[in-house]
Amino acid sequence: MQQHADQYIGGAWRPSLDGGAIEVVDPATETVIATVPAGAAADIDAAVAAARAAARGWAATGREERLAALTRLRDGLAAAQAEIAATVTAELGSPIGFATAVQAGLPLAVASSYLEILAGYAFEERVGNSVVHAEPVGVVAAITPWNYPLHQIVAKVVPALAAGCTVVLKPAEDTPLVARLFARIVDEAGFPAGVFNLVTGAGTVAGAALAAHPDVDLVSFTGSTAVGRTVAETAGRGIKRVALELGGKSANVVLPGADLARAVNVNVANVFANSGQTCSAWTRLLVHQDQYEEAVELAAKAAAKYTPGDPTDPATRLGPLVNARQLERVRGYIRGALDQGARLVTGGPDRPDGLERGHYVRPTVLADVTADMTVAQEEIFGPVLSILAYRDEEHALELANGTQYGLAGGVWAADQDTAVAFALRMDTGQVDINGGRFNPRAPFGGHKSSGIGRELGTHGLAEYLHTKSLQF
Ligand code: NAD
Repeated sequence: MQQHADQYIGGAWRPSLDGGAIEVVDPATETVIATVPAGAAADIDAAVAAARAAARGWAATGREERLAALTRLRDGLAAAQAEIAATVTAELGSPIGFATAVQAGLPLAVASSYLEILAGYAFEERVGNSVVHAEPVGVVAAITPWNYPLHQIVAKVVPALAAGCTVVLKPAEDTPLVARLFARIVDEAGFPAGVFNLVTGAGTVAGAALAAHPDVDLVSFTGSTAVGRTVAETAGRGIKRVALELGGKSANVVLPGADLARAVNVNVANVFANSGQTCSAWTRLLVHQDQYEEAVELAAKAAAKYTPGDPTDPATRLGPLVNARQLERVRGYIRGALDQGARLVTGGPDRPDGLERGHYVRPTVLADVTADMTVAQEEIFGPVLSILAYRDEEHALELANGTQYGLAGGVWAADQDTAVAFALRMDTGQVDINGGRFNPRAPFGGHKSSGIGRELGTHGLAEYLHTKSLQF
């Protein structure tokens, strides 16, 4: 077992100033695989001081210097792909095939995209008799969750560094090992001391201290809506910029005439990916009442191909959930849905057969779900698909928009124009048309309680810049 006692602060690994430890548990075996320091206010103070000390110097670097350092960082991510995937599989339980393609591959794609974006970004714009300069906001607090642990780190840290900001990262308690691996890669890339800092610790202690720190200029938070609200309140008191990537309850709407079988198959794959622990997952499938039973049968058939198992086996498509608390939460939602009158198509709250250890849940499809049920409104964060029937297009839109969230969604129709017209009426940050693929350069973020601001692409870089107008 690895026992780590250091934080990455001011360009070096230093003993944590706070005494406690966090145990990292492999969710497939329930064994402790490592400990990391439970940093608190003293570590956060040291990390923010290091980031502040480095801020002016890093902001003053030119595009070429930042590009050179970020290229070394990208190359480091490329060289460590196998180690990244194995680390995420060990601490999160993400199946190794998915971890390799997405948990390791996506951060590499995002880091690569920012090399191109930085190379072409216009940091100055002439407006009449003014020149508007885009300047780095300063010291960034990055607070990240466990479900796509490296992607969420890279989606904040890389554009922040590209913009000329310095960063203090507080990763999720469940997945600190890939964050430490990232810090090692940053260190090897040779950024100036203090440009990037890592403090592991509890959200309510280290996270809260970081979000409230008076010397932080911007807080970028990804996580639950409940914690996001607290972080935004704290940031508001300090008049800090804030970016929030929060939860979702996204709808996949299949309009009459669409390819129903494909829409349902893609939906099942989408909602079971990463064991259902994806903020943008299409957790609600909306089908016309005349096609409802056909859709339910198709979903049952597609779900039967997913058997939970050992995430280190390349054949496994569904791993365990991240921890015991999440497992109990997901089982509770399934039980609650059955109590409220939903029909169990497949899965259920019981432990999957043959898996005595590990935080495994049965992949579950629920039919006869109505908008007033808890599973139709709240984020479950597990492999649970709810199928709802709609009467007509207006009813479908009302259902699609009828939650507090607005992160993602899908629309399927016989022709593209019909799908686009519907998508433009959805209160959500991104919509995939007839199975359109995820684009790591397109802005990602939410409407309503799903958040404020955008990550990825040029919009993701602009989050870390503010403007200064000079008049001539
Ligand atoms: P969480 O809100 O519990 O924790 C997220 C991070 O915040 C962790 O690092 C945690 O330690 C920290 N934290 C906790 N309390 C804090 C506090 N009081 N002050 C400051 N920081 C604090 O979320 P989670 O359980 O780790 O992640 C799951 C949630 O994240 C889901 O709701 C999911 O939808 C959401 N999510 C959203 C996106 C997105 O881009 N919109 C992406 C991934 C996950």
